[in-house]
Amino acid sequence: SYAVGIDIGGTKTAIGLVDSDGQVLSKSSLPTDHTVSPAEMVDRIASAVKQLTAGTGTPESDLQGIGIGAPGPLNTKLGQIVKPPNMSGWWGFPVVESFKRHFSLPISFENDATAAALAEKWLGAARAADDFVFITISTGIGAGIYSHGKLLTGATGNAGDVGHFVIDPAAGTCVCGQQGCWEYIASGTAIARQASQLLGRSVSTKEAFDLAFSGADARIEQLVNQVFRYIGIGCVTLINTLDPELLVIGGGVSQIGAPLFDTVTDYVKQYALNPSGRNTPIVPAALQQDAGLIGAAALVHVTY
Ligand code: ADP
Ligand code: ZN
Repeated sequence: SYAVGIDIGGTKTAIGLVDSDGQVLSKSSLPTDHTVSPAEMVDRIASAVKQLTAGTGTPESDLQGIGIGAPGPLNTKLGQIVKPPNMSGWWGFPVVESFKRHFSLPISFENDATAAALAEKWLGAARAADDFVFITISTGIGAGIYSHGKLLTGATGNAGDVGHFVIDPAAGTCVCGQQGCWEYIASGTAIARQASQLLGRSVSTKEAFDLAFSGADARIEQLVNQVFRYIGIGCVTLINTLDPELLVIGGGVSQIGAPLFDTVTDYVKQYALNPSGRNTPIVPAALQQDAGLIGAAALVHVTY
């Protein structure tokens, strides 16, 4: 049997037809057009889904359901997108009801980071774990929490919004209005912003890493090391709060690999309160490509 995975994002929506082993049979991607209404975007997404199922000759009777992942804040009880910062046209939009106009299938709807955590449990780096946290360090920072063998969604699907842990109140104002949130100082966006300020020109996250690790610029190297320690601080807080057996880190910034994972592992070894927590393995996410749509499909295929 198959599931349709739909990963709605601020720049694009990825959709795919995913079988019960997690194989992506067919997929496509649509740019999120902010000049049209979300209802119009849902029409486009629904047409693209119908094209995929027609293209693979999959009758609707072989489809088990539709899984939708979307950025938070959202409300899974109400089936609504609530207030994602870079999708202001979607605030308050009843996304589940809107898809129900196009399909008579069951629809599951969760926060994208929560869905990605379920995908890591299903097929990825956390298959053997009953207690783990998946952290994505990308444009922002988010997490999905899996505890006691179950996905922790919270009352409205917003559990795991760890990007707004306050880490350094002296650092400046976050989109959420608080000072010095984790994602304000340690996301990909934050690295690029701070590196650009230091050099007085526009610097991408990737270029900041190149400058830091080639030894070309000592200030950028210092900045990047500070950011990696900030990531360590958030990880210690998560370990102290949830006592996970494993941390999985994904998202664009995690592509840098060893320098990040080694610094975070060392920080946790030093500062996690519980001696066993100090040895929490910190590993890269296994699903990079298609993680969003596989996560959305996991909401259908995996009991959570
Ligand atoms: P999204 O936030 O849309 O899920 P990503 O997970 O790719 O997308 O995260 C985007 C952020 O990650 C950007 O800040 C980008 O600069 C950074 N990024 C993406 N790929 C890399 C890379 N290979 N090295 C360093 N930073 C990266
Ligand atoms: Zn914040």
